[in-house]
Amino acid sequence: KARNAHEPEFLQAVEEVAETVLPYIAENKIYEGKNVLLRMTEPERLIYFRVSWIDDKGQFQVNRGYRVQMNSAMGPYKGGLRFHPSVNASILKFLAFEQVFKNSLTTLPMGGGKGGSDFDPKGKSDGEVMRFCYAFMAELYRHIGPNTDVPAGDIGVGAREIGYLFGMYKKIKNEFTGVLTGKGLSWGGSLIRPEATGYGTVYFVQAMMETHGQGVVGKTVNISGSGNVAQYAAEKIIHLGGTVQTFSDSSGYVYDKEGIDAEKLTYVMDLKNNQRGRISEYAEKYHSAEYHEGKRPWGVPCDIALPCATQNELDEKDAKALIKNGCICVAEGANMPSTPEAVQEFLAARILFAPGKASNAGGVAISGLEMSQNSLRYSWSREKVDDRLKGIVKEIHNSCIKYGIEEDGYCNYVKGANIAGFVKVADAMLAQGVI
Ligand code: NDP
Repeated sequence: KARNAHEPEFLQAVEEVAETVLPYIAENKIYEGKNVLLRMTEPERLIYFRVSWIDDKGQFQVNRGYRVQMNSAMGPYKGGLRFHPSVNASILKFLAFEQVFKNSLTTLPMGGGKGGSDFDPKGKSDGEVMRFCYAFMAELYRHIGPNTDVPAGDIGVGAREIGYLFGMYKKIKNEFTGVLTGKGLSWGGSLIRPEATGYGTVYFVQAMMETHGQGVVGKTVNISGSGNVAQYAAEKIIHLGGTVQTFSDSSGYVYDKEGIDAEKLTYVMDLKNNQRGRISEYAEKYHSAEYHEGKRPWGVPCDIALPCATQNELDEKDAKALIKNGCICVAEGANMPSTPEAVQEFLAARILFAPGKASNAGGVAISGLEMSQNSLRYSWSREKVDDRLKGIVKEIHNSCIKYGIEEDGYCNYVKGANIAGFVKVADAMLAQGVI
């Protein structure tokens, strides 16, 4: 703890895991005296580098680049790149640590990592984003590879950025390999990858609701964020007959009392992905919607809440409001969006609550399948990949049930996901000796 005192997000992620995993270690002698969890909290490698690039005005700009190679006991490091001004070592270490458990839960052979930069893509031209991505890859390329470390997208890194990053990697290495996932369909990408995190989160919701004999049809759903995860979570909710009520971005949220249907969602996708606009514009177009500047959508009554924006975006007060208004299920599409106090509220109220490492693992699972398809030099059909996604989500849900059921029959998905994720990585580390 002292060693990482200056890294609050990382400590938060580790403490949440330690709370549930340490009692398990104490009960299972094979882990005794091996300091497995302590070893898991130290990255195998943290690469930190300068990224210099030239903006449209001809000015020299400098950003910080990072790659946290957290754990390779189960396979090559795997995890996204985040471009956002808030990016620092603490945030990337928390994300990389969570990623190790999440990747283990998918049952696919992937270690954990995360990376990114404090570069802010907002307001930058395409040319600036391209030059930044080229400069970033001009250093990162020497640390990654299809059998070493395979980055993907995250906040601020979508299809456009992956394209530029891949282009530079290929130019430097003169090889076409599956070194990044989230690639375009015609050049090595997998069907369903863009949809996978959002769809997977909703498949997880379905699995949880089934344990209560319920479904998504007819339910009201609040979603935060309006990026990749939020958009496809909304698409799947709409397919399944639920009503999406909200979207947000870092400026505020919109609440559409008539619901956000498929047509309105198409508008949001175009607004966010092509025009790179703000969610406030939604309320200008659709008069059934209200825009709330600087606020989060958790005060709007709903049956299901899907936080899909960023870490610590749902606090104790928000959790209490959700519970009071009758919310029965919360599944994290984002990574660690609920504060520890909020999680305690959900668990104490005995509502269905899925931590991101379980409910948003669908994205990295399909990235794993993209790697397999690249190795085979082959593409699977949409149906095949979607079926695998459904199957993997079901297996993750089963793992949570296996380790998470408490004395009163309540499934504590936090405990279940942490222990199930830990066991596989810890066993691989023990088998490999002192690594
Ligand atoms: P995007 O960049 O596509 O979208 C991020 C969304 O969150 C945007 O609406 C953004 O608003 C909002 N947001 C970002 N920062 C903040 C902030 N500080 N406060 C409020 N809102 C904010 O990212 P993704 O959809 O890919 O990622 C969202 C979350 O899901 C992240 O936690 C990510 O780690 C997690 N995740 C993503 C996966 C993937 O496959 N993409 C896989 C698993 C987890 P604005 O436009 O104003 O920036």
